[in-house]
Amino acid sequence: MNKTNKIKVKSNEYTANLPKDFKQPTDTVGRRLLKEYGALFVARGGAIPPKKVIFKSEREVSSFQASLSKSIKTVGSFEIELQTAAMKALKKAIIAAEQNCLTITPRGADAAKRNYADTVALWKSRVNPALAHWVEKGNLEPAEASKISRLSPFDQVVEVFNLESQGMFCSKDLLKSIIYSVAPPGTSQHLSLLALDVNEHNDPSVRDVLSEHGWFQTVVSDLPHFTFLGVLENQLPNLGLKKVSDNKRTFWLPNL
Ligand SMILES: [Zn+2]
Repeated sequence: MNKTNKIKVKSNEYTANLPKDFKQPTDTVGRRLLKEYGALFVARGGAIPPKKVIFKSEREVSSFQASLSKSIKTVGSFEIELQTAAMKALKKAIIAAEQNCLTITPRGADAAKRNYADTVALWKSRVNPALAHWVEKGNLEPAEASKISRLSPFDQVVEVFNLESQGMFCSKDLLKSIIYSVAPPGTSQHLSLLALDVNEHNDPSVRDVLSEHGWFQTVVSDLPHFTFLGVLENQLPNLGLKKVSDNKRTFWLPNL
């Protein structure tokens, strides 16, 4: 990682630091996702972020993943795959953690890389019970719920956001937006091989070690989730990111 504070920035505006040829979303859903998940797109330090907010199919995800330099390693009980730059930084963080008698371990077999089908399955595991709940509560017509459940994953996102705007939240606890616990299909940072869900996320010392090695929290209230941004914390504002504090945690989000 670059520790000399000389990262390539055109200006400290978020959009100026997006990858060349990045397709800026113009629709409401895309813009919201950019705002909530977009820190990833200005990652540095050898990270290659995608050039758009939503992958629309397995084919798009696999062709992006095939274009990357990747690395596989067994960490804790699981074999994980990340972009090479992210893995190198993670290995250094693990060593630094060990020197302080700390561990950094993945939360499961899907803690790092995911494919498109994984993101669809996770999404459905939240949306379907939520639809059933709001029908049972009488807030949603059964016909409307079944219409939404039959839509393609991509088209479902708009409808789910629409329900949430009427107070019918679809997260696991049904109290907040689904996007704070599960990413819409094709939008998870895990598809980019730049994200890792960490067991020890509650330990502030572990979070410090990770951030010293370019790994930060970038999705508000997704507590185990870390994103490789490839710079030190003091460089993040230069990339157009802003610090958001929530429940004693620090998250870095696009300053949009
Ligand atoms: Zn995650």
